[in-house]
Amino acid sequence: MFNDAVMKERLPNPVYKKLRKTIIEGLPLEQEVAEVVACVMKDWAIEKGATHYTHWFQPMNGITAEKHDSFLFTTDDGRAITEFSSKQLIKGEPDASSFPSGGLRATFEARGYTAWDCTSPAFVKDRTLYIPTAFCSYTGEALDLKTPLLRSMDALSKQALRILRLFGNTTTKRVVSTVGAEQEYFLVDKKYFMQRKDLIYTGRTLFGSKPPKGQELEDHYFGNLKSRVAQFMRELDMELWKLGIPAKTEHNEAAPAQHEVAPVFETANIATDHNQLTMEIMKKVADRMGLACLLHEKPFAGVNGSGKHNNWSLTTDDGYNLLKPGKTPADNAQFLIFLLAVLKAVDEYADLLRFSIASAGNDHRLGANEAPPAIISVFLGDELTDIIEMLETGVARNNGNNRHLEIGVATLPVLRKDTTDRNRTSPFAFTGNKFEFRSVGASQSIATANFIINTIVAEALCQIADRLEKAEDFKKEVNEVLKELAIKHKRIIFNGNNYCPEWTKEAEARGLPNLKTTVDAIPCLIEEKNIKLFEKHGVLTPVELHSRYEIQLENYIKTIRIEALTMIEISNRQIIPACVKYINILAETAASIKTLNADSSFVQGDLERVLNLTSDLRKCTDKLSNQIAALDNDSRDSLARAKYCKDLIIPIMNDLRVYADKLEALVDEKLWPMPTYTELLFGLV
Ligand code: ADP
Ligand code: MG
Repeated sequence: MFNDAVMKERLPNPVYKKLRKTIIEGLPLEQEVAEVVACVMKDWAIEKGATHYTHWFQPMNGITAEKHDSFLFTTDDGRAITEFSSKQLIKGEPDASSFPSGGLRATFEARGYTAWDCTSPAFVKDRTLYIPTAFCSYTGEALDLKTPLLRSMDALSKQALRILRLFGNTTTKRVVSTVGAEQEYFLVDKKYFMQRKDLIYTGRTLFGSKPPKGQELEDHYFGNLKSRVAQFMRELDMELWKLGIPAKTEHNEAAPAQHEVAPVFETANIATDHNQLTMEIMKKVADRMGLACLLHEKPFAGVNGSGKHNNWSLTTDDGYNLLKPGKTPADNAQFLIFLLAVLKAVDEYADLLRFSIASAGNDHRLGANEAPPAIISVFLGDELTDIIEMLETGVARNNGNNRHLEIGVATLPVLRKDTTDRNRTSPFAFTGNKFEFRSVGASQSIATANFIINTIVAEALCQIADRLEKAEDFKKEVNEVLKELAIKHKRIIFNGNNYCPEWTKEAEARGLPNLKTTVDAIPCLIEEKNIKLFEKHGVLTPVELHSRYEIQLENYIKTIRIEALTMIEISNRQIIPACVKYINILAETAASIKTLNADSSFVQGDLERVLNLTSDLRKCTDKLSNQIAALDNDSRDSLARAKYCKDLIIPIMNDLRVYADKLEALVDEKLWPMPTYTELLFGLV
């Protein structure tokens, strides 16, 4: 990785200092600096074996894209030299026409630009120098996930600095959001994976009857590792470390065959790049070892799905975590302002947070008794919740005689970072010095969640700063603001069990939104209040928001369509033929038992059950085919078609699965045309 240490060692000192300023303080990059960096970076990459370079970017299909060019140039006298100029470092022009743009760019205007993001280190992988870049259209609109993330980090820094200045901080130059993304995944044997068309095409099992044992014995979580899994984790760590990705923790998760990898936190931007790379490397390492790594949110029905815990905090460039409760009363007033700003942000923009985790895959996971529900709430823990209540009433409790609580005078209790005081069911939990957003799906880019958290917190801080900057008596106004925020936003705090049905009712009574599915959540992106928010902070323009709205809906429709087509194919070409064979065996058996004048009723019974279910399966498969044909002829807008998928296609898919899974439990396992849950979940030896 072309990291700070390498830059410091290799760049001339004045150039290094200027580049650092750009990276840390967000100042514009000078042309001469870029020229030197390009030259030094090329030499460094060639020493590492690189022959090519690529502008690496993150289009809105959630994965990364790259186009490789060699460093090779030919001279007039026929020789070959290597060359890499600042122009090549700073700007690329990939053909953008095949990436999703949500109507932003007509195909005849296919040009797109990639622009070097010097805040995320370049790296060498597979003999290629990878340069992290932002991707935009010819007319300058963001076509990727990185651009809004970088813009949101600027917005957040600007607003957080206003608050810090008010509290007398004159030295901090930039505030960054830091992120550590814990990544869950499943490992299955590749030989089974390759026999499952549903896993190959959709990443999840569309069929599969539940084995007698699932995760009920809780014998897998943090359990000791099977040797192939342990070897995978070791090799994964090695590959990640080579790229400068600080993988730190590896362990088994709750479901059989489920595991987790967690890195040390970095800036939101680098953490996002590194999480994208981590997912890619996980798949490659698995493949190399005869395994398949599943990153889908719900690869298996009946056991836990996989998420990504997005740990988020705010840190100053001088290394101070703003969400860490302080030691002095003044520090604590500042801590509480930041804490309550996050509460305010989550409460006022819960819909956007819900949007940030919306995907067809994550719909199977959220609220499925294993993952947070679609309702967004915040866990604060008892101690902090007490403090919020004290702010509200203005009365300090817990110390015998009630007295007036004045933040800025009274010191907060020292908050314990107590591991037993954890609430694993909360979607957005405060864990001592950071918030953990647990609803992000395992396959999703964390860019969306983070640009949304950054923007909504920037807005909350902005409103608070607007007030405090006008205050005549600052301390008094801080107390007043804290009190008002506590009263207004405590409804978003929920420390109880988020998985239980009573919470749904309670949340409704509190007026919290419950956007159950992706299709319910996507439209909030283009609501007036949200368009205003993103425009105000320069994160996304109305045009960019509309394009993202379209892309998300189209993504959803395409996902459901592919899943339905895969089900139809598997049912028609694998399951029904297997059932027909079994029916034939049963019928012949029944006939031959009859010739013996013996009782054939038990075979007859089996025959009838399999016959009826197969007939139901046939009808249901045909019905699903018709629905897909209707979808393909549907010329309504994307929202109407997405609703059609949700309301009229998914229920038939669910029915289809029920018939097939019942058949799986009846048909001779030697005839069953694909590996079962037993082999997938327990078949790794
Ligand atoms: P746990 O979730 O069990 O408390 P850790 O506290 O070690 O585990 O952290 C989990 C993840 O949170 C790790 O990826 C870690 O790097 C990250 N993390 C820790 N501190 C911060 C922070 N200040 N900002 C962002 N992420 C953080
Ligand atoms: Mg955690």
